[in-house]
Amino acid sequence: MSGRFEGKVAAITGGASGIGLATAEALLAEGATVVLVDRDKAALDALVAKHGEKCIAQVTDLLDPASCDAMVPEILAKTGQIDILHCNAGTYIGGDLEETDAATIDRMLNLNVNAVMKNVHAVIPHMTERKTGDIMVTCSVAGHSAIPWEPVYSGSKWAITCFVQTMRRQLLKHGIRVGQVSPGPVISALLADWPEENLRKAKENGALIEPSEVADAVVFALSRSRNVTIRDMVVLPSSFDI
Ligand code: NAD
Repeated sequence: MSGRFEGKVAAITGGASGIGLATAEALLAEGATVVLVDRDKAALDALVAKHGEKCIAQVTDLLDPASCDAMVPEILAKTGQIDILHCNAGTYIGGDLEETDAATIDRMLNLNVNAVMKNVHAVIPHMTERKTGDIMVTCSVAGHSAIPWEPVYSGSKWAITCFVQTMRRQLLKHGIRVGQVSPGPVISALLADWPEENLRKAKENGALIEPSEVADAVVFALSRSRNVTIRDMVVLPSSFDI
C-alpha cells in the first residue's frame, strides 16, 4: 500500500459494482477513505463489511430527486470533506431508437447526464470553499465517437464530454480539477444490455477490458501533481475496432 491518497475522501457513485467498485478498491488500497454511493443497499453493506471502516456506505437513488439532492449533504455529514467526487453511475440502452420507449430514454438521460450535473452542482460550494478538489466523470468511448447502435447512450456520453470540458474551465480558478475517463467495453453488469451479437463478437475478439484497468487510469489521473489535469483518458481494449 503506497498511501498516496491517505487523508483523502473519495465519493464514488455506482460504487457497488463494476468500474466504480474497482476504482473504490484501488483508492482504498492507496489509503483513501471511500464513500460508496449506490442504490443497492445489500451490496453496499457487504462491501463495508469486507473493507472495514475506511469504506463508507451512502444509499442514494440518483433517479429519485430528493435522494439525489440529499447525497452530498449526507456524505459531508459522515466525512466532513469530499476531496474527490467520481460521478460514475450510469446505465445503458442500445438498439434502434424506435425500439426504445420514452420512459427508458428519460431514465437513462436522468442518470447518465442530469444526476452527474446535479451531483457536481451540489459539491462545488464545498470544493470552492476548500479551494481544492477533483471531479472525475465516467464517460465512454461512445462520448467521442457517434455509435449508431446506441444513439441515446452515445448522445448521453457526448453530453458528458461537453459538460466535463466546460466545467473544467469554469472551476479551474477555484483549484478544482475536472476530468473524465472514457472506457471502451468493460466486463461488468452493464454489458448484459448490449446487443447479443456485439457482445459475442467482442468476447471472441478479446475486445473487452477489466474494470480494474479503468480504475488504474483514474488513479493515475488523480495522483498527478495539482498543476496537471488529465482532462480525458480513452481506455480501450487493444483489439477494439472503433
Ligand atoms: P455496473 O452496472 O457494473 O455498475 C453500475 C452501478 O450503478 C451499480 O452498482 C448500480 O447499482 C448503480 N446504479 C444504477 N442506477 C443507480 C441509481 N439510480 N442510483 C444509484 N446507483 C445506481 O456498470 P459499469 O459498467 O461499472 O458502469 C459504470 C459507468 O461506466 C457508467 O457510467 C457506464 O456508462 C460507464 N461505461 C461502462 C462501460 C462498460 O462497457 N461496462 C463502457 C464505457 C463506459
